[in-house]
Amino acid sequence: MAEVLVYVDHVDGAVRKPTLELLTLARRVGEPVAVALGAGAEATAAVLAEHGAVKVLTADAPEFADYLVVPKVDALQAAYAAVSPVAVLVPSSAEGKEIAARLAVRIGSGIITDAIDLEAGDEGPVATQAAFAASFTTKSRVSKGTPVITVKPNSAPVEAAPAAGAVEALAVTFGALATGTKVVSRTPRESTGRPELTEAAIVVSGGRGVNGAENFHLIEELADSLGAAVGASRAAVDAGWYPHTNQVGQTGKSVSPQLYIATGISGAIQHRAGMQTSKTIVAINKDAEAPIFDLVDYGVVGDLFEVVPQLTGEIKARKG
Ligand code: FAD
Repeated sequence: MAEVLVYVDHVDGAVRKPTLELLTLARRVGEPVAVALGAGAEATAAVLAEHGAVKVLTADAPEFADYLVVPKVDALQAAYAAVSPVAVLVPSSAEGKEIAARLAVRIGSGIITDAIDLEAGDEGPVATQAAFAASFTTKSRVSKGTPVITVKPNSAPVEAAPAAGAVEALAVTFGALATGTKVVSRTPRESTGRPELTEAAIVVSGGRGVNGAENFHLIEELADSLGAAVGASRAAVDAGWYPHTNQVGQTGKSVSPQLYIATGISGAIQHRAGMQTSKTIVAINKDAEAPIFDLVDYGVVGDLFEVVPQLTGEIKARKG
């Protein structure tokens, strides 16, 4: 059976959820061969095998940690040459997209970014993307070279599919550009204990209606009752009420959770661009005419300062 390369996003051997989702999609197209790089690469093998990787190609070298993406592109290209896959799948993170784009240029292939679904087609994998602030979906196929496809988090379920997951060392020769951009420092972000925004299954976002940084605890408490990440509209971010790292939308992050709760957010096109592919959308807004109500599955017309604490209390009570 044809093999599909899956680039593994992991932190010291802990595989991140979007990679497991990629394995689900990869199995629709062929047999997944995972590529895990850097410290802890070999430790990823067990979980990758549980989710369908027939093989795990690993490499570790100081270059992966000390320099930006080029060493990883060198390694992925080496894996590509070793495997001759029918497709290369990469998580749609900022780094993933850069790696995918550089690989596509090097191997002379077409690329599809930010896919939200993938299926096998007669002439190669067919990817679905959301377009025009997710008002449309498009299906595309790469017609030149081996498809390189990046996939957004939460686009597929994580499925157990035990496979061999045999670990093989990948021989990598770094090119002259590999050490071109050095990492000078790394500062871990203070942990909130909440899931990463782009990977969270549930996101609760606050907008201008929250009316001040001091009120964002209401959004955080609702989020925590659901095990959700916190998002914010640009209006809330520009006002300095919440960090830009939490902004959802065209100039913020793009999220696609199972459940998105928009509180005090009007639903501007630029906000929709970042959340419209969410599976279920709920809005709490005191203005029944707010455009956000055009795209919701469930809407609550009401004052968030009354509705949100009630909702949080009810969720906590039901959880016992
Ligand atoms: P508003 O539009 O002011 O809406 C506030 C809502 O809160 C209203 O609907 C109001 O009825 C409701 N409300 C008020 N009080 C309460 C209450 N007590 N209870 C319940 N509801 C209440 N925006 C983004 O979000 N993300 C982006 O990435 C982004 N990128 C942009 C890029 C460009 C180039 C441009 C031009 C704009 C961008 N914007 C972005 C801005 C966007 O156009 C909107 O201005 C912004 O999304 C509005 O944020 P908001 O919905 O929080 O505020």
